[in-house]
This record gives sequence, structure tokens and C-alpha cells, in this order.
Amino acid sequence: MKLKQKAEYISDTLEKLLGLPTWDGTEDVLECLILTILSQNTTDVSRDKGYVQLRNKFPTWEDVLNADADAVEETIRIVGLGQQKTKTIKNFLSWLKTEHGELSLEFIHDMKTEDALEFLCQHKGIGIKTASVTLSFACGRDVFPVDTHILRISKRLGLIPQNCSAEKAHYVLPPIIPKGKTYPFHMNLIYFGRQICNARKPLCEKCPLTDECLYFKENMQT
Ligand code: SF4
Repeated sequence: MKLKQKAEYISDTLEKLLGLPTWDGTEDVLECLILTILSQNTTDVSRDKGYVQLRNKFPTWEDVLNADADAVEETIRIVGLGQQKTKTIKNFLSWLKTEHGELSLEFIHDMKTEDALEFLCQHKGIGIKTASVTLSFACGRDVFPVDTHILRISKRLGLIPQNCSAEKAHYVLPPIIPKGKTYPFHMNLIYFGRQICNARKPLCEKCPLTDECLYFKENMQT
């Protein structure tokens, strides 16, 4: 099966198994980007708690920009990597103010997707994954963020080479994703990765994709 056909088959199979997730609608773009920075290497629950604590202590982004780094770090302690995340957030806000004149990313809604990705990734603290999550979740753009679950499953299923990095996967996967399916495919792969194709012990006996899976052929077949 060619890669495009294979991706379509996997997308369809996961929809049959898990349903069709639908995008909720636009969100504040800067809020989404900051949440994405906070979410690195932590749980959704801790990320949300850290975000609420940050906004309670510093109600505006100007407040965060002008605050002492130590004070910001203290409010987001729960998310882990507080020093690094504080630095990324404060540097980004400072850069945005210089580039755009105000602490808002709502103008992104009027940009083409490639231009918006390029704009966000210009800032050295923002990688392709953070930019893609922001454009997908806040703006509903046809981009494909690759997290640890998606990287692992894509390798097991042979959609990308075994040595493909997460960053490179952001460029290799989108051309083979069925048109208009980036959001539901992304969401279903994450759920599938958490519930069935987990990292340590995938539940292959519950999986409808065994016929397409390189990992299954190499490790599970007797
Ligand atoms: S067969 Fe196993 S390893 Fe392959 S995709 Fe399914 S759960 Fe994952």
C-alpha cells in the first residue's frame, strides 16, 4: 500500500473505532500558545492548574512581561521546567511586543497558514510543534502537530522512517494525511496512543491495524 493510501486507511479505521473528533472553534491565539509552552513534559491537569495560577497572579500579558522572572516561575511551579518555561514565555512576549506592538496574536487569523507558521517559528523559543498546535487548536488550520504518541505510532505503522525526528515528522507527515483530516486524525492518534498503542506495552490484541503494523510483524507475530 502506498503511504497516502495507508494513512487514509489508518485514519478511516481509527474513525470507525474512536469516532470523528470535531474542532471546537477559535480560541485566543496567544493564550493557546502559552498553554502549549506550559504543556511540555507535563500532564493536561498540571498545565491547566499552572495556567490558572499564572492568570490569577498576572491578569494581563503585560503583567507577565513586566513581572520578575522568579515570581512567574513560582506561579507555574506545578508544570515543571519552570525556569525554562518562564524564560520562553517572557522572551516570546517581549519579542511579540517589539515585532507587533501589542501582546496579541489575533492577527494570525488573517495570515496564510505557511506565513503564520514561519512567523511563529522565527522566534527561537518556538518550535514547529508549538506553532502547529497553536494554529490547529486556536485557528483550526490544516496543520499536523506531532507529539510523542504520534511519532511512536507513525513509526510502528511505517508512515515515517524509524530514525525520523519529531521535528522532521512535522514536514514528512502532512503531505500524506487525507485532506481535511488533520484535526480528527491528530486527536484519534493521541487517544489511540494513550489507550491502545502505548509506549511500553501496546495492546495489539485490541488493535484493528495489525495488518499494517511493522512493529506487530516484527515483535508480536509468532
Ligand atoms: S498492532 Fe500494536 S503496535 Fe501496531 S499499531 Fe496496533 S497496538 Fe500499536
